[in-house]
Amino acid sequence: MAATRRFQTVKGMRDLLPGEAGAFAQVEQTARRVFSLYGYREVRTPVVEDTDLFVRGVGEGSEIVGKQMYTFDDKKGRSLTLRPEGTAAVARAYLQHDMSAWPQPVKVFYMGPYFRYERPQAGRYRQFSQIGAEVIGDPGPHSDVELLVMLLRFLSELGFEDLVVGLNSVGDPECRQRYSKRLRDYLEPHRDELGGDSLRRLETNPLRILDTKVPAERLLLEGAPRLREVLGDPARRHFEVVRGQLERFGVAYRIDDGLVRGLDYYTRTVFEITSGGLGAHDAILGGGRYDGLIGELGGPVVPGIGFAIGEDRLVDVLPASSPVRVDETTPVCVIGVGDAGLDVAPELAEELRASRVPAISESAIGTLKAGLRKAGRRGCRWIALIGEDELAAGTVVLRDFENSSQETIRRDEFVATVKARISA
Ligand code: AMP
Repeated sequence: MAATRRFQTVKGMRDLLPGEAGAFAQVEQTARRVFSLYGYREVRTPVVEDTDLFVRGVGEGSEIVGKQMYTFDDKKGRSLTLRPEGTAAVARAYLQHDMSAWPQPVKVFYMGPYFRYERPQAGRYRQFSQIGAEVIGDPGPHSDVELLVMLLRFLSELGFEDLVVGLNSVGDPECRQRYSKRLRDYLEPHRDELGGDSLRRLETNPLRILDTKVPAERLLLEGAPRLREVLGDPARRHFEVVRGQLERFGVAYRIDDGLVRGLDYYTRTVFEITSGGLGAHDAILGGGRYDGLIGELGGPVVPGIGFAIGEDRLVDVLPASSPVRVDETTPVCVIGVGDAGLDVAPELAEELRASRVPAISESAIGTLKAGLRKAGRRGCRWIALIGEDELAAGTVVLRDFENSSQETIRRDEFVATVKARISA
């Protein structure tokens, strides 16, 4: 007989255990609340899409499409892919459901699992969570600014401070073509200073080289021409309005010439947000405008802008002052002592729940001491005790573990008293 196998999560994937999963839920709740304030509505698209959607939407030359997709054939031989990012699917949904007939722009947000076959390392997973939003159908710079202001509100509600927007413009396709040529001319004489990846990109997509993390290449790039310097008039004006509006809102931003973002579809505004205390290259989120994407997917030319927040990382770096708690509030523990108490405890717990007070009832028939120990191990602060004596007297004993105090309260005032104590 084969040895029993002990199953583990698939490489690069992880369980979010209670507590951690609770923190994710609280972050998502905050996102829903804040994004709704700005008129965004939630969409849920499937986890699996046609492979070509990402090949066309994210770009054949991109790291994601080239190396990181979970692609497989279904039983009919159709090539499907576990979604590696959110924007292409929202763009597909926009076209599929004729959202261009809706009032423009269409503002949506989404959250859920995404998949990339990456080398697992700290904070990078093969299944990870993103929270994203898209504004489709408005070419104007004010949408860019509203999106950034909304993000800053969301992050500051989570307790982040010293938020800085890293901002750049990657221009329109014409600007990029012009710039690619200039950058190639600049880098050609330095071929021997470039690594394999960058040499390849020099032929296929020189802009990507700006993304490099190789120190020697970063140094070389310091002398390179800047994309912003070759922007055409429309892109330049767009960028100026974005900057002016950000200043009007008092938003701290930093122009980052190296910020080009990894995906092919970006145009004009691209951004990242970092928080004081985290490294400058440690963005919590990134996004940008993608005026060409929907056209690329076979639709009309409809502009869009959006962002994706890496939720795993966001939860990981939540500041100590964050209202999000990994240790969620523990329920009130109702312990019945003796057979009669055991019968009443579940009823008391249910009365608390009816008044929205989280409660559990200990059902183990053991000694009072064992019950208290168990409640303590669960981290319960408040314990309600009921036994023969209390039943006869019409009372309940409420014990506060934190202050080692207890009081006897009337059975008919039980729920009201517990509510008052726990919210005091
Ligand atoms: P991107 O879609 O590549 O712009 O990524 C947006 C955000 O998603 C990043 O800022 C990361 O925090 C997060 N992210 C991307 N890939 C992963 C991954 N493999 N594991 C965890 N987070 C990720």
